[in-house]
Amino acid sequence: MSYWFTERHTPTRGLTFQVEQNLYQEKSQYQILDIVSTQDFGLVMLLDGVVMVTEKDEFVYHEMLTHPTLFTHPSPKRVLIIGGGDGGTLKQVLRHPCIEKAVLVEIDEMVVNASKRFFPTLAEAFSHPQAEVLIEDGIAFIKRNEGSFDVILIDSTDPVGAAEGLFHKDFYADCYKALKPNGILTIQSESPWIEDLQPVISRAHRDLKSLFPIVMPYSAAIQTYQAGLWLFQIASKKYHPLMDFDGSKCRDMNFKYYNEELHKGCFALPSFINRLFTE
Ligand code: SAM
Repeated sequence: MSYWFTERHTPTRGLTFQVEQNLYQEKSQYQILDIVSTQDFGLVMLLDGVVMVTEKDEFVYHEMLTHPTLFTHPSPKRVLIIGGGDGGTLKQVLRHPCIEKAVLVEIDEMVVNASKRFFPTLAEAFSHPQAEVLIEDGIAFIKRNEGSFDVILIDSTDPVGAAEGLFHKDFYADCYKALKPNGILTIQSESPWIEDLQPVISRAHRDLKSLFPIVMPYSAAIQTYQAGLWLFQIASKKYHPLMDFDGSKCRDMNFKYYNEELHKGCFALPSFINRLFTE
C-alpha cells in the first residue's frame, strides 16, 4: 500500500513524496539503508531516512560532482572517490578516457551491495577494469596515500556519524598531501538553504582557502536533495576551473545535466550564497 514519506530537513519542513512499496531494509554498524519504489523518482535509496540516490535524477549530482573538476584538470589519470558507495560518481569518472585508475573508498559495504542489487546501471562501474573498490574509512585511507592522486572527489553523506570527519580541516589537509603537485579536491558542500548547515559550508570554504590557492564554490539544482539546491567546492593547487577549462573536450559527451555553458555558469552564485563565502 502506498504512503506519503517525508525526509525532514528542519523541524518544520522537508521533502515529501509518495512511496509505492518498501522493497528492502538493512542496518549496518553505520546506518540504516532503505530501498523504496516511487512513481515520481523510480527506485530511491535512503540512508537514515535521507535520500541518497534516485533513479530519476541521480545524474545531476553525479555529473556535477565529477565533470567540472575532470574538465578543469588537463590530464587526470588517478582519481580517488571517498564515499559514493552507490557507484554513480565512479561511473561518471570512468567516462573520461584519460583515467588510468579510479579508486573508490566507501566505509559501508552494505551500500555497495545494495547498489549492485537495486541500481545495477550505477554499480556496473565497480567491475570496470580501471576501478578499484575498497571498503574502508576514507579518513584513515587518505593518510597512507601521499602524492598519489590527480583528483579527489568527496561523495559523502551529511556531516554526522562516520562522515563528520570528512568535513574537518585536518581531513582537507590530508587530502592536500594525497594529491599530486597540480591536484584538485572537490567536495559536496550541502544545501545553502538549510540554516544549520550554513556555518559548515562557510567553515569548509575558509579551511580549504587556508590550504589551496584556488577555491571556487558552485551549485546544481537537485530536485530530491535538501531544498533542491546543492553546493560543491573545488579546491585546486594550480588549475583554475574557468581559465584552464577546455570546453571542446566535453562537447560530444552527451551528458544529461552538465555541458560546456553550464560549466562556465555554475560558478555564478546568488548573492546570499556568496555571502556564505565572504562574511
Ligand atoms: N551526496 C550523496 C548524498 O548525500 O545523498 C552521497 C551519497 S553516497 C551513498 C555517501 C556515502 O558516503 C555513504 O555510502 C556512506 O557510507 C559514505 N561514507 C560516510 N562516511 C564515510 C567515510 N568516513 N569514509 C568513506 N565513506 C564514507
